[in-house]
Amino acid sequence: MARSIRLHTPAALTAGGIVALPPDQAHYLGAVMRLAPGAVIALFNARDGEWRGRISALRRGAAEIEIEARLRPPAPEQDSDLWLAFALLKRPATDLVVQKATELGVAAIFPVITMHSLGERVNLARLEAIAREAAEQSERLSLPAIQAPQPLPALLAGWPRGRRLVAAIERAEAPPVVAKPGPTALIVGPEGGFAPAELDVLRAHPFVEPATLGPRILRAETAVIAGLALLQAAPRRR
Ligand code: SAH
Repeated sequence: MARSIRLHTPAALTAGGIVALPPDQAHYLGAVMRLAPGAVIALFNARDGEWRGRISALRRGAAEIEIEARLRPPAPEQDSDLWLAFALLKRPATDLVVQKATELGVAAIFPVITMHSLGERVNLARLEAIAREAAEQSERLSLPAIQAPQPLPALLAGWPRGRRLVAAIERAEAPPVVAKPGPTALIVGPEGGFAPAELDVLRAHPFVEPATLGPRILRAETAVIAGLALLQAAPRRR
């Protein structure tokens, strides 16, 4: 069976309810997917789960969906205890990191300002739209929480007790990245790498575990994908 169209909505989903979709989702249904009233799609969010809905009205810039029946109850993501921190990259690489991290199940994304990272700002609305599309495509129910950028020392100072932080460090003797049960996060540096002083600061924190992703020097976005793939591959329920 062809994969049905899934759209995330913050609206309440209940049988018989009507959900109004914003212009970008209406455009996607009508102009991109060429659907018409009567067509069946799925709507989801983390609070209400996933529901079958039928397009009841579709115009330029607006769509209404009549909610029929629940397809999936709300449930935590299997890997919802995986977070990603990454040093800000050029925009296309940052976009790719947010998309792939969402596909790989991260619950929270922390852009980090480091000595060699590029820029100090992100367009949060744009990154949230990228994450929403990746969640729709990858059959997640939840969206990752994308944080405002913060300097590395602030991230480490506010680090929650009991969460390991696997630091991807190139050109160093370190054990490989391994999945373990319990709250985990990955941190990846910028194209220029972490500065030596930053590596010292990272290593000084007891929750930081330096780890290698192999003998080659990876682009930062490759390191994110490879590291998250290793950390989420095994079931990690608490
Ligand atoms: N300019 C640096 C490389 C930075 S690579 C140099 O030439 O040494 C960008 C980031 O990807 C690094 O900060 C690190 O977090 C991660 N990374 C790349 N290759 C890695 C590897 N083999 N093992 C662990 N992390 C790696």
